[in-house]
Amino acid sequence: MERLQKVMANAGVASRRKSEDLIVDGHVKVNGKLVTELGTKVSKTDVIEVDGVPIYKEEPKYIMLYKPKNVISAVSDPTDRKVVVDFIQGVEERIYPIGRLDFDTTGLILLTNDGDFANLLTHPRYNIDKVYIATVNGIVDTKALTKLEHGVMIDGKKTSKARAKVISTNKEKKTSVVQLTIHEGWNHQVKNMFEAVGHEVYRLKRERFSFLDLGTLQPGEWRDLTAFEVDKLK
Ligand code: URA
Repeated sequence: MERLQKVMANAGVASRRKSEDLIVDGHVKVNGKLVTELGTKVSKTDVIEVDGVPIYKEEPKYIMLYKPKNVISAVSDPTDRKVVVDFIQGVEERIYPIGRLDFDTTGLILLTNDGDFANLLTHPRYNIDKVYIATVNGIVDTKALTKLEHGVMIDGKKTSKARAKVISTNKEKKTSVVQLTIHEGWNHQVKNMFEAVGHEVYRLKRERFSFLDLGTLQPGEWRDLTAFEVDKLK
Protein backbone atom coordinates (compact mmCIF):
# COMPACT_ATOMS: atom_id res chain seq x y z
CA MET A 1 0.00 0.00 0.00
CA GLU A 2 1.24 3.47 -0.84
CA ARG A 3 0.06 6.96 -0.07
CA LEU A 4 -2.38 8.25 -2.64
CA GLN A 5 -0.40 11.42 -3.34
CA LYS A 6 2.76 9.37 -3.93
CA VAL A 7 1.02 7.09 -6.41
CA MET A 8 -0.38 10.14 -8.20
CA ALA A 9 3.05 11.78 -8.33
CA ASN A 10 4.67 8.59 -9.62
CA ALA A 11 2.03 8.34 -12.31
CA GLY A 12 3.04 11.79 -13.47
CA VAL A 13 -0.23 13.51 -12.49
CA ALA A 14 1.51 16.34 -10.63
CA SER A 15 4.14 16.85 -7.95
CA ARG A 16 3.43 15.26 -4.59
CA ARG A 17 2.55 18.67 -3.15
CA LYS A 18 0.16 19.50 -6.01
CA SER A 19 -1.35 16.01 -5.78
CA GLU A 20 -2.11 16.71 -2.13
CA ASP A 21 -3.94 19.87 -3.17
CA LEU A 22 -5.91 17.93 -5.78
CA ILE A 23 -6.98 15.44 -3.09
CA VAL A 24 -7.94 18.05 -0.50
CA ASP A 25 -9.78 20.09 -3.14
CA GLY A 26 -11.97 17.10 -4.03
CA HIS A 27 -10.67 16.18 -7.48
CA VAL A 28 -9.71 12.60 -6.67
CA LYS A 29 -11.76 9.41 -6.48
CA VAL A 30 -10.58 5.96 -5.41
CA ASN A 31 -12.74 3.09 -6.67
CA GLY A 32 -15.44 5.59 -7.48
CA LYS A 33 -15.49 7.21 -4.04
CA LEU A 34 -14.39 10.79 -3.43
CA VAL A 35 -11.32 10.96 -1.17
CA THR A 36 -10.25 14.18 0.52
CA GLU A 37 -8.14 12.69 3.34
CA LEU A 38 -4.36 12.95 2.90
CA GLY A 39 -3.58 9.82 4.89
CA THR A 40 -5.34 7.54 2.40
CA LYS A 41 -3.36 4.55 1.20
CA VAL A 42 -4.01 2.70 -2.01
CA SER A 43 -2.94 -0.59 -3.52
CA LYS A 44 -2.06 -1.52 -7.10
CA THR A 45 -5.56 -2.76 -7.82
CA ASP A 46 -7.34 0.43 -6.73
CA VAL A 47 -8.72 2.58 -9.51
CA ILE A 48 -7.73 6.21 -9.06
CA GLU A 49 -9.43 8.98 -11.00
CA VAL A 50 -8.57 12.67 -11.17
CA ASP A 51 -11.52 14.74 -12.35
CA GLY A 52 -13.07 11.55 -13.67
CA VAL A 53 -9.99 10.50 -15.66
CA PRO A 54 -8.30 7.29 -14.52
CA ILE A 55 -4.57 7.58 -13.90
CA TYR A 56 -2.21 4.85 -14.84
CA LYS A 57 1.23 4.19 -13.54
CA GLU A 58 3.86 4.92 -16.13
CA GLU A 59 6.61 2.45 -16.85
CA PRO A 60 9.69 3.77 -15.07
CA LYS A 61 12.21 5.20 -17.53
CA TYR A 62 15.90 5.80 -16.90
CA ILE A 63 17.81 7.63 -19.61
CA MET A 64 21.32 8.97 -20.10
CA LEU A 65 21.73 11.99 -22.39
CA TYR A 66 24.87 13.65 -23.69
CA LYS A 67 23.70 17.21 -23.15
CA PRO A 68 25.01 19.58 -25.80
CA LYS A 69 25.98 23.18 -25.08
CA ASN A 70 23.29 25.88 -24.89
CA VAL A 71 20.51 23.62 -23.64
CA ILE A 72 18.48 24.09 -20.46
CA SER A 73 18.29 21.25 -17.92
CA ALA A 74 14.51 21.44 -17.67
CA VAL A 75 11.33 20.07 -19.25
CA SER A 76 10.22 23.40 -20.67
CA ASP A 77 11.45 26.96 -21.02
CA PRO A 78 9.28 30.08 -20.96
CA THR A 79 11.46 31.68 -23.64
CA ASP A 80 11.44 28.59 -25.86
CA ARG A 81 15.12 27.77 -25.61
CA LYS A 82 16.06 24.15 -26.21
CA VAL A 83 15.59 21.88 -23.18
CA VAL A 84 17.07 18.46 -22.44
CA VAL A 85 13.80 16.54 -22.98
CA ASP A 86 13.61 17.89 -26.56
CA PHE A 87 16.36 15.39 -27.42
CA ILE A 88 14.46 12.35 -26.12
CA GLN A 89 12.24 11.52 -29.06
CA GLY A 90 9.85 8.58 -29.01
CA VAL A 91 9.46 8.44 -25.23
CA GLU A 92 5.89 9.04 -24.05
CA GLU A 93 6.63 9.01 -20.34
CA ARG A 94 6.91 12.31 -18.48
CA ILE A 95 10.62 12.31 -17.83
CA TYR A 96 12.65 15.12 -16.29
CA PRO A 97 16.36 15.70 -15.61
CA ILE A 98 17.95 14.51 -12.38
CA GLY A 99 19.80 17.59 -11.14
CA ARG A 100 21.09 20.24 -13.49
CA LEU A 101 23.95 21.12 -15.76
CA ASP A 102 24.42 24.79 -16.62
CA PHE A 103 23.20 26.11 -19.99
CA ASP A 104 26.78 26.16 -21.31
CA THR A 105 27.92 22.89 -19.68
CA THR A 106 27.96 19.72 -21.78
CA GLY A 107 27.99 16.08 -20.79
CA LEU A 108 26.24 13.33 -18.94
CA ILE A 109 22.82 14.00 -17.50
CA LEU A 110 20.25 11.43 -16.36
CA LEU A 111 16.52 11.72 -16.92
CA THR A 112 13.73 9.73 -15.32
CA ASN A 113 10.05 9.71 -14.39
CA ASP A 114 10.84 7.88 -11.12
CA GLY A 115 10.70 10.47 -8.34
CA ASP A 116 12.20 8.20 -5.69
CA PHE A 117 15.16 7.42 -7.93
CA ALA A 118 15.70 11.12 -8.65
CA ASN A 119 15.53 11.96 -4.94
CA LEU A 120 17.95 9.21 -4.09
CA LEU A 121 20.57 10.37 -6.58
CA THR A 122 20.34 14.03 -5.62
CA HIS A 123 20.32 13.49 -1.86
CA PRO A 124 23.52 14.91 -0.31
CA ARG A 125 23.84 11.78 1.84
CA TYR A 126 24.62 9.65 -1.21
CA ASN A 127 27.92 11.31 -2.07
CA ILE A 128 27.96 10.26 -5.69
CA ASP A 129 31.15 10.93 -7.67
CA LYS A 130 30.68 13.44 -10.48
CA VAL A 131 33.65 13.85 -12.76
CA TYR A 132 34.11 17.06 -14.72
CA ILE A 133 36.64 18.19 -17.30
CA ALA A 134 37.18 21.93 -17.03
CA THR A 135 39.14 24.15 -19.38
CA VAL A 136 40.23 27.14 -17.33
CA ASN A 137 42.34 30.24 -17.78
CA GLY A 138 45.90 30.22 -16.50
CA ILE A 139 48.23 27.42 -15.53
CA VAL A 140 46.78 25.47 -12.61
CA ASP A 141 49.55 24.73 -10.12
CA THR A 142 49.87 22.14 -7.36
CA LYS A 143 48.86 24.65 -4.74
CA ALA A 144 45.53 25.27 -6.46
CA LEU A 145 45.00 21.52 -6.96
CA THR A 146 45.61 20.88 -3.26
CA LYS A 147 43.13 23.58 -2.27
CA LEU A 148 40.51 22.13 -4.61
CA GLU A 149 41.10 18.67 -3.14
CA HIS A 150 40.90 19.75 0.48
CA GLY A 151 37.82 21.89 -0.03
CA VAL A 152 37.18 25.55 -0.74
CA MET A 153 34.63 27.92 0.75
CA ILE A 154 31.63 28.74 -1.39
CA ASP A 155 28.99 31.05 0.13
CA GLY A 156 30.16 30.15 3.62
CA LYS A 157 30.11 26.37 3.02
CA LYS A 158 33.17 24.20 2.50
CA THR A 159 33.17 21.71 -0.36
CA SER A 160 33.96 18.14 0.67
CA LYS A 161 37.16 16.36 -0.33
CA ALA A 162 37.58 16.28 -4.09
CA ARG A 163 40.08 14.89 -6.57
CA ALA A 164 41.81 17.21 -9.01
CA LYS A 165 44.42 16.56 -11.65
CA VAL A 166 45.82 18.53 -14.54
CA ILE A 167 45.26 16.73 -17.84
CA SER A 168 47.11 19.25 -20.01
CA THR A 169 48.28 22.83 -20.14
CA ASN A 170 48.71 25.22 -23.03
CA LYS A 171 51.50 27.64 -22.24
CA GLU A 172 50.81 29.84 -25.31
CA LYS A 173 47.10 30.22 -24.72
CA LYS A 174 47.67 30.16 -20.94
CA THR A 175 44.94 27.60 -20.29
CA SER A 176 44.72 24.31 -18.39
CA VAL A 177 42.47 21.31 -18.70
CA VAL A 178 41.68 19.86 -15.28
CA GLN A 179 39.73 16.78 -14.24
CA LEU A 180 37.80 17.49 -11.06
CA THR A 181 35.79 14.88 -9.16
CA ILE A 182 33.25 16.28 -6.71
CA HIS A 183 30.52 14.78 -4.55
CA GLU A 184 27.97 17.50 -4.02
CA GLY A 185 25.79 19.02 -6.71
CA TRP A 186 25.63 22.67 -5.74
CA ASN A 187 24.67 25.29 -8.29
CA HIS A 188 27.66 26.24 -10.46
CA GLN A 189 29.86 24.32 -8.04
CA VAL A 190 32.77 23.56 -10.35
CA LYS A 191 32.89 27.11 -11.72
CA ASN A 192 32.75 28.51 -8.19
CA MET A 193 35.45 26.13 -6.96
CA PHE A 194 37.82 27.24 -9.70
CA GLU A 195 36.95 30.86 -9.06
CA ALA A 196 37.85 30.32 -5.40
CA VAL A 197 41.38 29.35 -6.49
CA GLY A 198 41.73 32.12 -9.07
CA HIS A 199 40.79 30.41 -12.34
CA GLU A 200 37.89 31.11 -14.63
CA VAL A 201 36.16 28.15 -16.31
CA TYR A 202 35.91 28.58 -20.08
CA ARG A 203 34.49 25.19 -20.88
CA LEU A 204 32.92 22.47 -18.75
CA LYS A 205 31.91 18.91 -19.45
CA ARG A 206 30.62 16.21 -17.09
CA GLU A 207 32.17 12.99 -18.23
CA ARG A 208 31.07 10.66 -15.45
CA PHE A 209 28.21 10.29 -12.97
CA SER A 210 28.94 7.56 -10.43
CA PHE A 211 30.17 4.58 -12.51
CA LEU A 212 28.40 5.77 -15.67
CA ASP A 213 30.27 7.40 -18.51
CA LEU A 214 29.17 8.63 -21.92
CA GLY A 215 30.77 5.75 -23.82
CA THR A 216 30.27 6.31 -27.53
CA LEU A 217 27.38 8.78 -27.20
CA GLN A 218 27.77 12.04 -29.12
CA PRO A 219 26.28 15.40 -28.04
CA GLY A 220 22.49 15.20 -28.34
CA GLU A 221 22.43 11.39 -28.29
CA TRP A 222 20.87 9.31 -25.53
CA ARG A 223 20.25 5.75 -24.44
CA ASP A 224 18.19 3.88 -21.86
CA LEU A 225 20.12 2.72 -18.82
CA THR A 226 20.23 -1.05 -18.51
CA ALA A 227 18.38 -2.75 -15.64
CA PHE A 228 21.79 -3.64 -14.22
CA GLU A 229 22.90 0.01 -14.22
CA VAL A 230 19.65 1.15 -12.59
CA ASP A 231 19.96 -1.48 -9.83
CA LYS A 232 23.57 -0.55 -9.20
CA LEU A 233 22.68 3.13 -8.79
CA LYS A 234 19.89 2.39 -6.28
N1 URA B 1 29.35 22.82 -11.82
C1 URA B 1 29.17 23.93 -12.57
O1 URA B 1 29.73 24.97 -12.30
N2 URA B 1 28.33 23.85 -13.61
C2 URA B 1 27.68 22.71 -13.97
O2 URA B 1 26.94 22.72 -14.94
C3 URA B 1 27.90 21.58 -13.19
C4 URA B 1 28.74 21.66 -12.11
